[in-house]
Order: sequence, then structure tokens, then C-alpha cells
Amino acid sequence: MNVMRGQIKISPNNMAARVNLLTEIESGGFTRVIAPKPKADRQPATKIVLKNETYGESTDAIADEIADCIGIKPKAIKPLGRAGKIHLLLFDGTHKSRDIMENFKRSERKFFCAPSIKVEPFRENPKHIIQCKKCYAFDHSKQSCYGKQEEPQIIITTPEGTTTKVCRNCKEEDHGANNASCPVFKKIIARQIEQAEAKQTKKEERIKRSVVRERENKMAAVV
Ligand SMILES: [Zn+2]
Ligand SMILES: [Zn+2]
Repeated sequence: MNVMRGQIKISPNNMAARVNLLTEIESGGFTRVIAPKPKADRQPATKIVLKNETYGESTDAIADEIADCIGIKPKAIKPLGRAGKIHLLLFDGTHKSRDIMENFKRSERKFFCAPSIKVEPFRENPKHIIQCKKCYAFDHSKQSCYGKQEEPQIIITTPEGTTTKVCRNCKEEDHGANNASCPVFKKIIARQIEQAEAKQTKKEERIKRSVVRERENKMAAVV
């Protein structure tokens, strides 16, 4: 058990203890309890975007076709955007994105007889943020939250003695904590975009370096 910045962190050592603890806590009326799912349940899926158009095939049929093409069956398929245009393929997290892409590249079978199969790794939209729909904090999702259902706005009493509704997070009027115009919300999106850009720059630099290295190796071979 750890006490940090006003939070108490409890790490139960088995599932039964965890379930017991959560049941106790839920009935205890605490303001905010966050319990992320056990790591084993949290294996993130490997996401690949399929850009081949489909014509009314069911997601099951698409999954079977993908399995026939690359030998790995997606765990789930979700349509993205307009019907039949783009699909998100969710593979078991134990398969690396790079390996799946390689399998697609090597596949001799064409997806539903299409001339080519268009796939790319899924890129997380940095404007998409996780906000708990229960307590409106940004560090966890509703599924991990064992707190009470809160309102995006809270009522406070002003120094003048009147009451007013303000945002739960920034304490300003005119909006709720789930509104994208909230300064706290904006700050978190800005930070995510910044992190995504830094990651992209790093990746580009890495590619550039490997191209240079390859060229140098070739030169050395010629000499
Ligand atoms: Zn929450
Ligand atoms: Zn706000």
C-alpha cells in the first residue's frame, strides 16, 4: 500500500483479494476509486487499417478472407467511417504490427480477388483522448472507475453568496468538464499532439540514419 499525492494506492496480491477489496470500496462511498483491469486482460490489440473497399461482406467473412491471405485471423473487425470503405482489423496483441504488415506484403492470395491489398498500421488520432465518463478525469476510462457517477458541472457558492454552475475540472462557468472548449481538455489534447509529433520526428530521424548507413555500407563495398 502506497500513499501519494493524496491518493492511496493498494496492490492486492491476487484476484480474490482484488474482488473483495473492490466490493468493500464500492459500498464505502469514497469519492474516487480507480482500478485498472489486470494486466493480463489489458493486452492491447494490434491495429491495422484495411483500405480495400468491400461490398456487403460480413465482418466474419472478411476475417476469414484475411486469415486465408496471411494465416492470422483478426480477433475483431470494425468498420471505420463510411460503410464498406475502410475497416479496422484488430489482431491479438501478441502479433507485432510489423510482422502482420510483412505477412500482407508476402501474401500471394488477393483479398477477395482485388488487384492489391491496401493495409497500413493504425495511427492513433492524437485528438482522441481518454476521459472518464463517470468522474471526468483524464487519467483513466469509465471501465476502470469505481467512483460515483458525477455531473460535468458542479454547483459552487460565490464569495457574494450566490450559487453558480462551473466546470468540474477548471472551475470556469459556461461549460462542462466533457466539453472540448474546456482549458483543461484543450491542454491535454495539445500535450498529446506534441507527444505524437515528437514520436513521428524520432521515427523519421531513425529512418534517415538507416538510409545513410546503408549508403555508406554500399560505398565501402565498392571501394
Ligand atoms: Zn473516473
Ligand atoms: Zn472546464
